[in-house]
Amino acid sequence: MSDRAERLVARLVQAGVDVLLVTGLVNLRYLTGYTGSNGIALVGREVRRFATDFRYVEQVAEEVDPSFERAEVARDLLGEVHGLLPDGPLRLGFEARHLTVAAHARLRELLPERIELVAVDGVVETMRQVKEPGEVARIREACRLADAALEETLADGLAGRSEREVALALEVAMRRHGAERPSFEPIVAAGAHGALPHARPRDTQIRRGELVVIDWGALLDGYCSDCTRTVAVGAADEEAEKVYRLVLEAQLAGLAAVRAGADCREVDGAARRIIGGGGYGERFGHGLGHGVGLEVHEDPRLSQTYDGRLEAGNVVSVEPGVYLPGRVGVRIEDLVVVSDTGADILTRVSKELTVVD
Ligand code: ZN
Ligand code: ZN
Repeated sequence: MSDRAERLVARLVQAGVDVLLVTGLVNLRYLTGYTGSNGIALVGREVRRFATDFRYVEQVAEEVDPSFERAEVARDLLGEVHGLLPDGPLRLGFEARHLTVAAHARLRELLPERIELVAVDGVVETMRQVKEPGEVARIREACRLADAALEETLADGLAGRSEREVALALEVAMRRHGAERPSFEPIVAAGAHGALPHARPRDTQIRRGELVVIDWGALLDGYCSDCTRTVAVGAADEEAEKVYRLVLEAQLAGLAAVRAGADCREVDGAARRIIGGGGYGERFGHGLGHGVGLEVHEDPRLSQTYDGRLEAGNVVSVEPGVYLPGRVGVRIEDLVVVSDTGADILTRVSKELTVVD
């Protein structure tokens, strides 16, 4: 972990900053190991300081990487920043995504003039995009237990259960298999409700003849999994089957386009072309995928609006969907690790249209 702080310093030099004030909690965890809810770190060539308040002192002793000097300070962490900085003129970077405008104004007021505040955007997030082997191992395990939880949940059949019951059963099964919690609230959406990409589970009973979109993930050691399957409850009608086959074809094309160096727009385009060719281009209104790690939605994004290329070690979802309002929705999502030769697929659940009771 101290290696991460080391690599961050190299990036700070490029950004023209002497010290970075880390306030984003996920970034703080990534750099130091700390999982509490109040803390700051200061990272520079000669500075590795971590500060928290009384409530977390013991947790810090257990979690925070020993390369960081630890300080116990008042709850108001911003008030302590000055005292933790070295003397002399200094360019202090702050995380533009994680410091509110109010906190920034206050910090400016508290710091002497010799300290210049410099906005830094996404520098730790960029590091987080490329996963280390230990991170991939956790995500792989999160996928494995999420897969097992789905299989158990489907074994009891879906017809007659409400969407909420199924979502709850999935959550319980994931926790039983060792998940800390779900990585996001599971989506269980039957029939026409499946046409809402971010549907919330309802109390409505699932009926035979419906497709059910299930999007779920587990959190393990802070790392997320994310997967979607669309299953048929009893026989599906012709339109639903046709849409399913098209989405699956698009998903496979998207997977085939994944490799280190691939342009993120082109990976999205590989799947989008197939859905467009099937006449449903207008009904696939979101990007093909997103990075997954300590957060369930991270960069890189696979979409027409994201400017970037995939790198070996990225973990991304590949999840095309077709949404026909008032009728049906289909989405199929796998999580993959990007390598020089292609995609290592972490999700193991079958993608053939599964028919359950
Ligand atoms: Zn998902
Ligand atoms: Zn996703």
